[in-house]
Amino acid sequence: MNKKTVILGTGGTIAGTGAAGSHTYTAAQLATEDLVRGIPGLAQAAGADLVIEEVARIDSKDMNHAVWRRLAQRCMVHLADPRVGGIVITHGTDTIEETAWLLHELLPADKPVVLTCAMRPATALVPDGPQNLLDAVRLASHPQARGVLVCALGSIHGARDVSKVHPQRLNAFASLDGGPLGWVEGGQVRWAHAAPPSAATARQGALLQAPVFTDGAWPRVEIVMSHAGCDGALVDWMVAGGVRGIVVGATGNATLHHELEAALRRAAQAGVAVRIASRCPLGRTAAITGELWRDADGLSPVKARISLMLELMAA
Ligand code: ASP
Repeated sequence: MNKKTVILGTGGTIAGTGAAGSHTYTAAQLATEDLVRGIPGLAQAAGADLVIEEVARIDSKDMNHAVWRRLAQRCMVHLADPRVGGIVITHGTDTIEETAWLLHELLPADKPVVLTCAMRPATALVPDGPQNLLDAVRLASHPQARGVLVCALGSIHGARDVSKVHPQRLNAFASLDGGPLGWVEGGQVRWAHAAPPSAATARQGALLQAPVFTDGAWPRVEIVMSHAGCDGALVDWMVAGGVRGIVVGATGNATLHHELEAALRRAAQAGVAVRIASRCPLGRTAAITGELWRDADGLSPVKARISLMLELMAA
């Protein structure tokens, strides 16, 4: 049966406008309907029907927990509809990797949820948004696609590995350790290693019952960096302010400035959950055992923060 595709709009540069051809623009100005209208072939690529919903209209640098909750709720509603084959989310590039990771942690993985974006506004002389959106719709209606994916400039990335690696160029995303999961080329999806996303990359929504879907409070989890000249003052201040979790962007192989480490010990002893991620964009730190804290399971600090928030929410 030909299934329908849902497009959920959240804003971003893909919906941005400025003077025609100008580099100066404001993100999140156009309605999602306007982005879709006029893209040749999009309606056919979407399958039986195309449903468009405006979840938010924000610059994704300002992404917040309320929009995340609404987005996750709308995804859940549509994924539960047997007539829906897949979802596309239009999003800003700045925090797309965070939203992708949140949804990966929350949603069932049996249907594709494809996030897409643009580096240039809709009013650019040569905008990248229309092609990205068309590619994302094609991917969302591909029979082998599943789980949360990011599709930009013809590459398909998994939620765990994807990150924004360049502030300017069109090809702004990379899956640094594993490489992309595939590509959309000439309207066709080609999987890397000739294989579609596996169960490992498209996880089975272990957190389906998370309070994110109701009205549970988002616990305060902050990120600190270990760096030259570091001390623990910021950590002590956060603990005094009631922080529930701290993620550290540690140096190298999860190493900590000794002054920061002392403050983290005080925090952990006071009941704050501490996770150690690495500042290194590539590779994975050795597992941490027998400590007051755990490693971040190879996640970047921003993604580790999301996982820790969900863990604390579910506890
Ligand atoms: N600041 C914009 C956003 O993240 C950047 C972009 O979309 O490229 O919404």
